[in-house]
Amino acid sequence: MRIVLISTPIGFLGSGKGGGVELTLNSLVSGLLSLGHSVEVIAPKNSKLYGINEKAKLHFVEGEDQVSWQHQNYNSPVSIPDNSLLAGMLEKGLDIAKKADVLLNMSYDWLPIWMTLNADIPIAHLISMGSESSVISNLISKVYTKYPYNFAFHSKIQANDYPFIKKPIIIGNGFKLANYIFQDSMEGPLGWVGRVAPEKGLEDAVYVANKLGEKLNVWGFIEDENYASKIEQSYPRGTIDWMGFLSTDELQKELGKCRVLLNTPKWNEAYGNVIVEALACGVPVIAYRRGGPSEIIQHGKTGYLADPDDKKTMLSYVEIIENIKRKKCREWVEKNASTEIFANKVVNWLNKVISEYK
Ligand code: UDP
Repeated sequence: MRIVLISTPIGFLGSGKGGGVELTLNSLVSGLLSLGHSVEVIAPKNSKLYGINEKAKLHFVEGEDQVSWQHQNYNSPVSIPDNSLLAGMLEKGLDIAKKADVLLNMSYDWLPIWMTLNADIPIAHLISMGSESSVISNLISKVYTKYPYNFAFHSKIQANDYPFIKKPIIIGNGFKLANYIFQDSMEGPLGWVGRVAPEKGLEDAVYVANKLGEKLNVWGFIEDENYASKIEQSYPRGTIDWMGFLSTDELQKELGKCRVLLNTPKWNEAYGNVIVEALACGVPVIAYRRGGPSEIIQHGKTGYLADPDDKKTMLSYVEIIENIKRKKCREWVEKNASTEIFANKVVNWLNKVISEYK
């Protein structure tokens, strides 16, 4: 299959601004390449694919980023800046995809979805968020009536945000296991990983660390400086240890030393890459039973699930985290979320999309 991928219109690949989509795209490219498919990627200038993905051709587009939908009002209209990166990527993608079998869009935005109705080329959409915009959800609903296979989701709970999709296609996510080294020590610090932005609920993890009289190691791109400094000021100095945004290789080395990862989503998390990355290193995860994490974590086996926003229960689970066997965490990833498993699901999905156009 010849597949053209469109990256996120928020940040270049490797910047961390694009969140989980950056890693998902890389995992997908390596999975598809290893299955023998041909892959081209349209991405913002300065983007880098992982070294193992050098066989995929990368096309650069320059332009202005979109504004992330989760930081706008649910009913905001679509806004497209002058010299739009999204429009530029779509234009290039449509052109290159003339010689391909399918265009796979990984941006959560209106324009590529609208284009589905107006292009002869099949455009498939991997939806990376829950419903964060009425205008996008309404458009998905409209396109879905004509092209019922063109949308796939990471988790069932994410897809529930789009109730008009009767039989959602769920493809999970994939991780290159060789990139994550299993570490067996149960003595390490508390960890938290993610974009530092309100929907990620960092404050609840800091609460837990502070109550335990420990510090919290925080890795990730600080998207909202005000939010970060407000949390920092609400707790004793040094409670948060800001570790910065690291490459996957550096991140997994540090993350693997943690005795637990706290995951505190305040939104319907579509999947939660960082959970699986922690599990791949053998690190159990305690998360809220909200969004993707509740489908990934096996309560009592690979971590614990607390009721949404119940940080006191989260704290009590930290105290019994040694009951979780770290090997079980790694095993779950091997059985459920390798790049091979993921790429196979994507290929099956794309075959259905392509068949609609024949
Ligand atoms: N991440 C990273 N380096 C860091 C911290 C985070 O590469 O120091 C990546 C991580 O690998 C994950 C992404 O940031 O792929 C966060 O994705 P997730 O699905 O957890 O949340 P999103 O940002 O998409 O809401």
